[in-house]
Amino acid sequence: MDNDPEDVAFMKEICHYSRMMYYVFQQSTYGGSIRLKVYDVSVQMHGDMVVWPGDPKFRRDLVSAITNGDRSNVSILSCSTHCGTHVDAPFHFLEDGATLDRVAPEQLVGFCRVVEVICDGDITRDHLEKALKDGDIREDDERLLFKTLNSSRNLMQFPEFHKDYCAIAPSAAEWIVHRKVKTVGVDYLSVERFHPEIPRTHPILLGNNVFVIEGLNLTQVPAGEYLLTCGAWNILGADGSPARVFLLSDI
Ligand SMILES: [Zn+2]
Repeated sequence: MDNDPEDVAFMKEICHYSRMMYYVFQQSTYGGSIRLKVYDVSVQMHGDMVVWPGDPKFRRDLVSAITNGDRSNVSILSCSTHCGTHVDAPFHFLEDGATLDRVAPEQLVGFCRVVEVICDGDITRDHLEKALKDGDIREDDERLLFKTLNSSRNLMQFPEFHKDYCAIAPSAAEWIVHRKVKTVGVDYLSVERFHPEIPRTHPILLGNNVFVIEGLNLTQVPAGEYLLTCGAWNILGADGSPARVFLLSDI
């Protein structure tokens, strides 16, 4: 593509209606990572990674190995669908909820906001109201990823499970539903606090078609707006799956 300044100005103008198209335009004009910063916000998967208490450990075993005289290396994987950075489909908590193959693409891809919420307990409605008032959440935000003390404590990197992580309180879940947010993400293994008497956060979110991403690694990501791409697997009938998640931003 020609980089003539007038052409560039023109392209910016016609792409104004769609910021997403502007990203594509930059990508094709200037070439890949020169103009885009890419954050990989998924954790690495390996046998010692933290898993939800009671879930099987992640395993990868070679079933064909070049060192054994085979033509190629081929592995078989074994893990929970809620291992590492992963997504929850409504079916995870609702008997007749949508399964992963039926989740709309716009819940996996689109503009999102990383919101820093620093609080001792769980994120409540009051925290989100304040973030909205302070401009840390905008009126038209459709996807919200919460960066909490879990990130400063680097919890996803410890092999052992921490019960005292920061989660989303039911009041905040109701606020999220009320604001018609499509997708919500957190920086530890669950949106719900550990083993509540009756789980409420998951049913409130998933029961109102709010897609959930858990186990994000947001340690290196400043608060702000990004283009989210969440590569959840398209598994027929699944309640969730591990996901490779990237956040893209302008440089
Ligand atoms: Zn989950």
